[in-house]
Amino acid sequence: MRRFQCQCGNHLYFDNTYCLNCHHQLGFLPDRLTVSALRQDRDGLWTALNPEAGQRRYRQCAHYEHSGVCNWMVPAEDPNPHCLACRLNHVIPDLSVPVNWQRWGKLEAAKRRLIYQLLHIGLPIHGRTPRDPSGLAFAFLADPIEGQSVSTGHTNGLITINIGEADPVRREAVREKLGEPYRTLLGHFRHESGHYFWERFFADTGRQPTFRAVFGDERQDYGQALRQHYNQPNRYWQEQHISRYASSHPWEDWAETWAHYLHMRDALETAEGLGLVLEDEGKAVSFADRDDFQYLLNAWVKLTMAMNSMSRSMGSPDMYPFTITPTVAEKLEAVHREVHAVVTGERRPPGG
Ligand SMILES: [Zn+2]
Ligand SMILES: [Zn+2]
Ligand SMILES: [Zn+2]
Repeated sequence: MRRFQCQCGNHLYFDNTYCLNCHHQLGFLPDRLTVSALRQDRDGLWTALNPEAGQRRYRQCAHYEHSGVCNWMVPAEDPNPHCLACRLNHVIPDLSVPVNWQRWGKLEAAKRRLIYQLLHIGLPIHGRTPRDPSGLAFAFLADPIEGQSVSTGHTNGLITINIGEADPVRREAVREKLGEPYRTLLGHFRHESGHYFWERFFADTGRQPTFRAVFGDERQDYGQALRQHYNQPNRYWQEQHISRYASSHPWEDWAETWAHYLHMRDALETAEGLGLVLEDEGKAVSFADRDDFQYLLNAWVKLTMAMNSMSRSMGSPDMYPFTITPTVAEKLEAVHREVHAVVTGERRPPGG
């Protein structure tokens, strides 16, 4: 994530809604990909004070104004009451259950970070419409009192998240039970978006052989592969996969690798925004966002070593508890190639 600054000079975070220094309301401007201080005009609209916004006028997203679970703005001329991120919602939690409000807020925060990153990278986001029924949409569901629990997953553009994942006690219990070193809401959103983009990049495109050459044959029975994974997890996954779960099926391998690619791009951009420079054998390594994958990977390895060293200094678990082997690096590079081809317009994804 890039670094944001208020017109008063104060450092701002992506989720901030109020500047403690100049006392202005804040909002994220999706059309400018920046956070801005705002001045409310007599007609109720808001003028953005950030010089990057050129005095453009906005409304607050309805979920900002009425629910407090969003901080994004909607350009005044856009008739949609919801911002670019909130309009992708297909089902929101049942707000008559008090605890759901807080959980929903956490889910929306992670979702906005995903949507920001996709917009920033330049990946096309097409919401679900009658003309594009497999467009991107989100359903936030709670487990029913009786019956089968809700599975977090992706089907035909729809990303379903079990809102229980927003409960840190439950999420940690699941993480322990599954022996996972890392489980976060943002990780879930990034992983599931990988399935969405897989459909756009490979399904019905004739390009599946490109995928299979790196990740394996996705035509193997998915249900059976997951059952096998949960009953008898693969003990020898480290050489070939970024996580144990990635070894369950080529689709999951792609989604896990995709999520890691997004972790990598975001964290490198944050390091760059902060002006962080690390030394490698006497040479400075900066984290400027580059198209060259080997450069990105090298900077990422350096940065994760620094991140983990800092975690250990604080007595916390490693911030990045993963190892990138040469095979995993090839998979990350395959994701990079796909993303690069789409964002540079070299190849148009279907529905793009
Ligand atoms: Zn300010
Ligand atoms: Zn919103
Ligand atoms: Zn998955």
